[in-house]
Amino acid sequence: MAPTTAHPGQAPDRNAGRPKAERSPALLDLECIQCGARHPVADLPRGCPVCDAAGRNSNMFCRYADEAPLAERVPYPGIPDPDQGPTPLLPWEPNVYVKNEAVLRTGSHKDRFAAVVAAHAQAAGYRAVALGSSGNAGLAMAAYAAEAGLRCTVAAFEWLPETTRRFFTDLGADLRTFDDDRDRLRCIRDLADDPETLTVSNITDPVVGSHPLGIEGYKHIAWEIADQVPEDVDHVVVPSSRGDLAWGICLGFWDLHQVTGRPVPKLHLVEPFPRLSAVLDGAAVTDRFPGDHGRLSSIAGSSTTVQAHRAVTLTGGTATVVPDDTADTYYRLLCRRGHVWERSSVTVFAALASLREKGVVRDDSVTVLVATSHFFKGL
Ligand SMILES: [Zn+2]
Repeated sequence: MAPTTAHPGQAPDRNAGRPKAERSPALLDLECIQCGARHPVADLPRGCPVCDAAGRNSNMFCRYADEAPLAERVPYPGIPDPDQGPTPLLPWEPNVYVKNEAVLRTGSHKDRFAAVVAAHAQAAGYRAVALGSSGNAGLAMAAYAAEAGLRCTVAAFEWLPETTRRFFTDLGADLRTFDDDRDRLRCIRDLADDPETLTVSNITDPVVGSHPLGIEGYKHIAWEIADQVPEDVDHVVVPSSRGDLAWGICLGFWDLHQVTGRPVPKLHLVEPFPRLSAVLDGAAVTDRFPGDHGRLSSIAGSSTTVQAHRAVTLTGGTATVVPDDTADTYYRLLCRRGHVWERSSVTVFAALASLREKGVVRDDSVTVLVATSHFFKGL
């Protein structure tokens, strides 16, 4: 697709002379999560080329020099903008904290991903970004692309809420909607063939997850938690679809462990029906897991990923199922107490109750629940 000239909303004055982000001097290469193959830093929307050739796709992650300080263990130090400050950590009940990602610019943790890939796209000379999303990821990407003067194409489902649709228009995104997931995926694959467009979401089957440089943006959640919680953290509970967020947090805690020796908490990934749970019970990670996600669209999808699996197995965590009717109950309860997180986000509160019941989380364990998103988009 031919690039078009940025319209006024995409090129505000403050960005006119904005310097390109500088890549971390400590970034060595990309390593496959599954097979360990290494590859020079590049945009690989199909994930690891070795695993792709074998038909068992896997995402890659950034490898840094062993002696690198934390600040250099992200692809573009200074992105996301440190002026934004850490998101609040709310004391919830004894030994339980809530990391409130809903306060970020577009109301979700996806801002952290979008900030990094927008900086990367700009630094690498792309004119546009593209992704599949019907919610938080798309809006975050649209906002950060607009700020960087990049076009942003979002391939969404026709059912996306009217509020979200309007926000896409307001942010100047090229919104394309589809009834059928195969058509939606075809649209993103076509855009991945355009050398001027950086595709940042999944285009493969088996699914790999999103752009590995963007996932690195989630490391800051781990680092902020470590700064904000006085004790060592035992458990972190995270809503999950394809595991981008959980894997990024996992990488952040591993870095922290390497640099400071602090223990890595167990990561618990919350899903609306068994996908990762089925893989932990013996199903193949490449299987399809059709299931009813009800109104939990942000953590929907019939697949899981190698990165989600590794986030659980490397940390000794779990996959925890919270069905949509349980999430709905918690959503109403929390709204009545004045909290404004979306349904997929409040699954972490239900998961905590379930993990306590199973004896996985004890009352004296220190636990952080990641509340990912604001409810204003109607998701
Ligand atoms: Zn591989």
